[in-house]
Amino acid sequence: MAKKWVYLFDEVAEAESYAGSWDGVRALLGGKGSGLADMTRAGVPVPPGFTVTTEACNRFSADGKFPEGLWDQELAALQEVEKRTGKKFGDPANPLLVSCRSGAKFSMPGMMDTVLNIGLTDRTTEGMIELTGNPRFVYDSYRRLVEMFGTVVLGIPDEAFEEPLKEYKEKKGYKLDTEMTAEDWKAMAETFKAVVKKHKGFDFPQEPLKQLELATEAVFKSWNGKRAIDYRRATNIPDDLGTAVNIVTMVFGNMGDDSGTGVAFTRNPSTGDKKMMGDYLLNAQGEDVVAGIRNADPIENMIKKMPEVYHQFMDITDKLEQHYKEMQDVEFTIERGKLWMLQTRNGKRTAKAAVKIAVDMVNEGLISKEEAVLRVTPDNVDTLLHPQFDEKAKKAAEKAGAFFAKGVNASPGAAVGQAYFDANTAEKMAKEKKQAVIMVRPFTKPDDVHGMIASKGVLTSEGGATSHAAVVARQFGIPCVVGASSITIDLEKRVMEVNDKAVKEGEWISVDGTTGEVFIGQIKTIEPKIEEQTELLTLLIWADEIAAREGMRKSPEGWPTRGLQVWANADYPKDARRARSYGAKGIGLCRTEHMFFETERLPIVQRMILAKTSEERTEALNELLPYQRKDFDGLFEAMDGYPVIIRLIDPPLHEFMPDEEKLFEEVITLRVKGETKDLKEKEDLLAAIKSMHESNPMMGLRGVRLSIAMPEIVEMQVRAIFEAAADCTLRKIVVRPEVMIPLTGTVKELEWIQPRLERIAKTVMEEKKVTFSYKFGTMIEIPRACVTAAEIASLAEFFSFGTNDLTQMTFGYSRDDAERNFLVIYVEQKILPKNPFQTLDREGVGKLMQWAITEGRKTRPELEVGICGEHGGDPESIEWCHLIGNNYVSCSPFRVPIARLSAAHAALKYSGKSIAEDK
Ligand code: PEP
Ligand code: MG
Repeated sequence: MAKKWVYLFDEVAEAESYAGSWDGVRALLGGKGSGLADMTRAGVPVPPGFTVTTEACNRFSADGKFPEGLWDQELAALQEVEKRTGKKFGDPANPLLVSCRSGAKFSMPGMMDTVLNIGLTDRTTEGMIELTGNPRFVYDSYRRLVEMFGTVVLGIPDEAFEEPLKEYKEKKGYKLDTEMTAEDWKAMAETFKAVVKKHKGFDFPQEPLKQLELATEAVFKSWNGKRAIDYRRATNIPDDLGTAVNIVTMVFGNMGDDSGTGVAFTRNPSTGDKKMMGDYLLNAQGEDVVAGIRNADPIENMIKKMPEVYHQFMDITDKLEQHYKEMQDVEFTIERGKLWMLQTRNGKRTAKAAVKIAVDMVNEGLISKEEAVLRVTPDNVDTLLHPQFDEKAKKAAEKAGAFFAKGVNASPGAAVGQAYFDANTAEKMAKEKKQAVIMVRPFTKPDDVHGMIASKGVLTSEGGATSHAAVVARQFGIPCVVGASSITIDLEKRVMEVNDKAVKEGEWISVDGTTGEVFIGQIKTIEPKIEEQTELLTLLIWADEIAAREGMRKSPEGWPTRGLQVWANADYPKDARRARSYGAKGIGLCRTEHMFFETERLPIVQRMILAKTSEERTEALNELLPYQRKDFDGLFEAMDGYPVIIRLIDPPLHEFMPDEEKLFEEVITLRVKGETKDLKEKEDLLAAIKSMHESNPMMGLRGVRLSIAMPEIVEMQVRAIFEAAADCTLRKIVVRPEVMIPLTGTVKELEWIQPRLERIAKTVMEEKKVTFSYKFGTMIEIPRACVTAAEIASLAEFFSFGTNDLTQMTFGYSRDDAERNFLVIYVEQKILPKNPFQTLDREGVGKLMQWAITEGRKTRPELEVGICGEHGGDPESIEWCHLIGNNYVSCSPFRVPIARLSAAHAALKYSGKSIAEDK
């Protein structure tokens, strides 16, 4: 028997048993098809129809022809639909009309093709008029079919149809399509048929089955159209999924004033508020609403016009939300007072709405906390921490008369950029000229997506909250204002105007996607305050609870059995306070050398470096000690009760010295001018800096090597750390200092330096007569340290992976130059899957880490392991750290919320699994 390529909407059980899971059904029937089938099963009124599978599409793409058996199965399914509707395809007395709609597993709004009104021909048109008594509607439908079929199936350009319609309306003196009469549409249908004949040399097909066959084929082909491919690239949808084709009985929203059509979200997709949001139009077809070209009525107004339908609609959508336990995006049509649901899918939403809906649904008892945490993506959290306009700056701009227009707040966030009036220019200016761009259009179409993605913000003068621009911008987290109808955009003159104000192409504007306001010029933006985002805070607390659950990891004795903790990299008390307020449970890296750069300290540091004798050096260090003690005191106080890892000085000393080239110029100038004042001093300094020169300083005298060459510096630092810790303890602050030795490559280095430093620690505690627990450990940044981790762990009580250096040294790529020089090409050419300085290279660097942990814990099972390179804030890298048995990740304070969510995601994804199994 031939393979089953076609499923009626009520054959969902068969699809399920074939596909094995609901995810499999979605892959087989597409999001739309599986949704229609699922709605049919739930008893929701769905027009009868069937779905051609994605497998058929893929077979078509491979062979260039329908797979065997497909067409026969379509015909058989069509007969079933005829039976259920009591109508017949091609029968003038009672014609069945169908739509042919694309629908992949993942929603790709507007990226593929759809043909409506299939089955209308010269003959059935007459029959439909008999049946409906509404010739205007029938001719309008017919000309729509010819037009869609012409453009989508036959590839005739849009203008070939738009132009004659425009000319016709001008001739008649009409402004709107609604002024067109039955006769007018009849004439247009004839004109459009002539357009087909002129462009293709054959007649518009008068056999409904031919129409259906060609439309099915066109939808298959649209999977590999440019728009669809571009969209898949931007959204990481795999190319091999294919699209399903849904053949659905047509129901008509344009059959008079008791008919209509609309789209709605069951909750507000912008704010997440639990209130239905949508638009509908009376006496209209679906695309009129979606295109945002005609201004639609808010859904709540339907209660006045059609109370019964409204209540039924609210009831059905409520059931759909309960069924899917997700906010739904629905399309519906009312045909002569009867409500039909055409589509339901999980609605796209802003980051803000994603968090609010997830938290609300837990509170409503619809979903679990785990589900809520999984539904919010790290990118959502990132977006929520994005800039907003500074209120004061915005008020000032308003006062200064910079307010330009107000539209619908379609996608939140503040965007400042230069205005460009078409997608290609917007993309070009953003990519080639590296400008911040705001794309401005009357409305957007699927062809404009590349310009939108490249832009910081989007502004349209037409359309509503469900228009194309709004939906796409929300999906990509791009601030967007739509329907700012006071703006007139002159695409020829490249200028937009509101009354006497004008913005020329290339001029700066500021767009507030949260309020819908648009301003001329640049307004200052600020980081949002996390404390004010109550739902996000709630969600992150749940994330922490999940990650901290006992048994999230099955591990060998001594290894962590909970998920990851999140710590932060912070150098100053104010950073530590921010980190703590963002939820950090420790400081994973304090780069002490940053403190040396402060203006009043740098001269002392330089004196210390240039010291000729040990006494001179000790004298300078004694001056630095109180500064460092104060720094550490502040850190311990801010992190009361939490561990604080302080890294001893790491960079090569020349970084603290004046720039060699500049100094050289100064010396030459003094010599040429014959000035002697300061000359000797500068010459000596230059000679000293020259003597410190290294060809490859990142591989030179730095890290633990520097500590061994010049132990006085780190001895001072350790004294400062322990004095501060002791003072804090006396003030009842709970301190947990961890001293970190950087860049270790062999255990011998630790054997040389660590005991000296531990002696100082003990001495200070004795002097101050206090005790507290502390640790000495090391950074793992050199491949040799990973390989010999078992030995290194004999001294080191903790490891922290410095994956910036570890990546640099494992690949042999300079971390300062590689990104600008060749990494972009490597990623583009797929030599590397991603930039390894952003996302851990699991196969290389990641494996070294895994080896280091396993070996290190052979020596010391309770070895504390963290990461403090940039990867500590990257979701994919965090997942790896979970899998290989890290105790925590440490990242910049701003990324702490993202890391908390990612840690919970990793814990849930691999819940209870053995670390060894999942490596
Ligand atoms: C690292 O190398 O990953 C690290 C955290 O240290 P730094 O970036 O200071 O070299
Ligand atoms: Mg480093």
